[in-house]
Amino acid sequence: MTALSPGSTIGIMGGGQLGRMLAMAAAQLGYRCHIYAPAGDNVACDVAADATIAAYDDLEALKRFATACDVITFEFENVPVLPLKTIARDVPIHPPIKALEIGQDRVEEKEFVRKLGGKTADFAVARSEIEVEDAVAVVGTPAILKTIRMGYDGKGQIRVSAKSELASAWRRAGSQPLIAEAMVEFDAEFSVILVRGADGEIRYWDSTRNAHEDGILATSTLPAGPLIESQQVAARKMAAAVARALDYVGVFTAEFFASAEGPLFNEIAPRVHNSGHWTIEGAETSQFENHIRAICGLPLGSTATVAERVEMQNLIGKDGERFIQLLGDPAANVHLYGKAEARPGRKIGHVTRLYR
Ligand code: AMP
Repeated sequence: MTALSPGSTIGIMGGGQLGRMLAMAAAQLGYRCHIYAPAGDNVACDVAADATIAAYDDLEALKRFATACDVITFEFENVPVLPLKTIARDVPIHPPIKALEIGQDRVEEKEFVRKLGGKTADFAVARSEIEVEDAVAVVGTPAILKTIRMGYDGKGQIRVSAKSELASAWRRAGSQPLIAEAMVEFDAEFSVILVRGADGEIRYWDSTRNAHEDGILATSTLPAGPLIESQQVAARKMAAAVARALDYVGVFTAEFFASAEGPLFNEIAPRVHNSGHWTIEGAETSQFENHIRAICGLPLGSTATVAERVEMQNLIGKDGERFIQLLGDPAANVHLYGKAEARPGRKIGHVTRLYR
């Protein structure tokens, strides 16, 4: 792949904060960004050269978008893949559409990882209401029911501990195919974030300890502690095997539970990840810059951590009201995403603190 020259246009599908931070990193390297997203609070558009506001399956709009871009990437993975396959003839797309396809389906994702030797929680599939009871019987109680498609940040997830709860759980999950997962007793959660270049080179950022509240990432910290550090090597091997099998180019994230049995794979994100926001100030090259470098065919930057201790804290809902107070803390690097509305549970910014 020849390197894309500065001044070229990078198309980003999705208009949220990940697209915003990708566009800022791209601008630093002299590229223009064109955001493609349906109507909404598209905060990436505020910092990009162009935008197409259209549905993800609007083939005409997608074709015009493809013509205007030199490469296309994603900040959001729940994009219908069929229309994308049509435009893939006209413009390079990184990461590969196959990575989106797998990431969109919790069952396919787990089976793909298992085939490559990775371990996951026990799971069983319920495609209709009558299959829920059997699926839960396979994994035992307590269990977590998750929608197979379109789930993120704990949305579409229901914990069940008794047979009597299953009918209402099926309805609450939207009466759609579910995966029943055994409840993992984990000691910590972490993710492997790697970047794979166009030439196949892989680099990894340090794995942070990720703490969730109500299914949403609350903090990512380094050092991650001895347990995660001891499981990082095996988890990296697993994540790299998936990235290689997909012939992946760009930043790739795999989330894990650190359990007594070793790292258990939870899910992939074929994109930059919230648990990697600390890399903007905390690593020699951020996940956003290295993603842009990879998809543009440029050499990758160093992923080394630059501080003794790092803490990234998400600002959720009304947390943004502490903005002025946060600016008074000299250790705090404050990022706000420019969202119009600070609804409860909505990520509106983050703060990274470095201690050297
Ligand atoms: P997910 O949408 O799969 O990323 O799940 C969101 C969060 O729910 C995870 O980060 C965990 O904290 C929790 N979780 C998901 N699956 C399981 C499981 N099988 N066992 C225990 N906790 C889980």
